[in-house]
Amino acid sequence: MLYFSTRDTDKKFTFEEIILNGLAADGGLYIPEKIPTFTESAINRLLSSDYQTIAYEIIKQFTGETFTTELLKRMIHDSYKSFRSDFVTPLREVDDSLSILELFHGPTLAFKDLAMQLLSRMIEEVLSRTNSKASIICATSGDTGGAAVTSFANKKNIKLFVLYPKGRISEVQRRFMSTVEAENIKVISINGNFDDCQNIVKNLFNNRHFAKDVSLTAVNSINWARIMIQIVYYFSALSQYKRIEKNINFIVPTGNFGDIFAGYIAKRMGLPIHKLVIATNVNNILERCLKTGVYEVFDSIQTNSPSMDIQISSNFERLLFDLLDMSSGVVGKKMTQLRENGKFELSKSELKSFKDNFDAGSINQDETVKIIKDMYNKSHQIIDPHTAIAVGIHYKNSYKNSIVLSTAHAAKFPDTVEKAIGINPDLPNISDDIYKMHENIIELPNDVADIGSFITKNFSE
Ligand SMILES: *Cc1c(COP(=O)(O)O)cnc(C)c1O
Repeated sequence: MLYFSTRDTDKKFTFEEIILNGLAADGGLYIPEKIPTFTESAINRLLSSDYQTIAYEIIKQFTGETFTTELLKRMIHDSYKSFRSDFVTPLREVDDSLSILELFHGPTLAFKDLAMQLLSRMIEEVLSRTNSKASIICATSGDTGGAAVTSFANKKNIKLFVLYPKGRISEVQRRFMSTVEAENIKVISINGNFDDCQNIVKNLFNNRHFAKDVSLTAVNSINWARIMIQIVYYFSALSQYKRIEKNINFIVPTGNFGDIFAGYIAKRMGLPIHKLVIATNVNNILERCLKTGVYEVFDSIQTNSPSMDIQISSNFERLLFDLLDMSSGVVGKKMTQLRENGKFELSKSELKSFKDNFDAGSINQDETVKIIKDMYNKSHQIIDPHTAIAVGIHYKNSYKNSIVLSTAHAAKFPDTVEKAIGINPDLPNISDDIYKMHENIIELPNDVADIGSFITKNFSE
């Protein structure tokens, strides 16, 4: 299995190269040259397997010969052994039309743990083969940072730099990052929003000399391995789905378009998914694009579902390439238009193929609070604001069969949950009381050059 960039299909790369590079040198995102597909009987076999087996069967399609069978199985096993559910991602039925896939049973209570736990092991393994070092830079809207810090703490030959928008993530999210004591981790607060953090990361990558000097890599969902690992739980969801209904929609709280893009790949591999539904808060660039064909960046608005306060959805570029059957030159051109004019437009046929696979909806802050309350009154389940948005869209659009991806545990967003139901949700049993521990945070200016020199200095130490 080889990979190429969404902006240049001539150059091919191995899996080892793409997990260490993160972003392609031409600014594009890596994608497999061909999406593997399963026959119906192979899918049925997978759907009667446990999480670890499904994970192995799917991931080996994309990693080829990179890891031996034994090593890949062991890394998968080790990644998920600390999860608080035997199913890893258990599916819970709410009513006849709706089930919820719980993706928050990992160490930092959000779906990012699923991919990060395994990705950190893969990167450490690949680096150890050549005894090389890497710097990882990661912009976080709240949950990626904690998952990355927990997964990469004390991993050999790796320095991790996490950028987060100051004051725009919840205290629990911040503490999951800042309370980890590890020499190889730097948690950096930036005066700006998530898009600013993401832009710094993109600019550092575009500086090829710098990127090479510090062996820069990315573990945001621009890293293909994240997407690849997230495909697994779409299969796991249907393996636990006991109803006979067909035409199941997956409703996915969406920011950077990584999680839902993994669902799209699952569908391309043969998993019977009807629609992938993009669920957003008022930062609804993707909903607007699906409804009008125009992808246009507005200012991002701070909301009570902060992990989705994003305007530029990086992984949308992967969809443009694959779904719209664009040649690599066309994707590059659209991305240049986006950079220069803040928008681009889809043709009628492009918009049609987008709509054939996807649907979209958005929910505002007050509605979000009300949905958390309604859900609690109806079923005594406490859901987080991101999950609530997806649940709200399920009922608003009157879908018949939906699986909502529950991307975070309610205890990560206690203020909004308490406002809705008057209960401060308990953190599940995690070993330490993060509210009492010392925080390690470095404040740096919202400036590419400053962040760059900080990384250079730390990389050589
Ligand atoms: C990261 C995150 C999202 C957005 O996921 P994308 O892959 O960026 O679309 C949604 N909800 C929560 C809780 C998150 O942490």
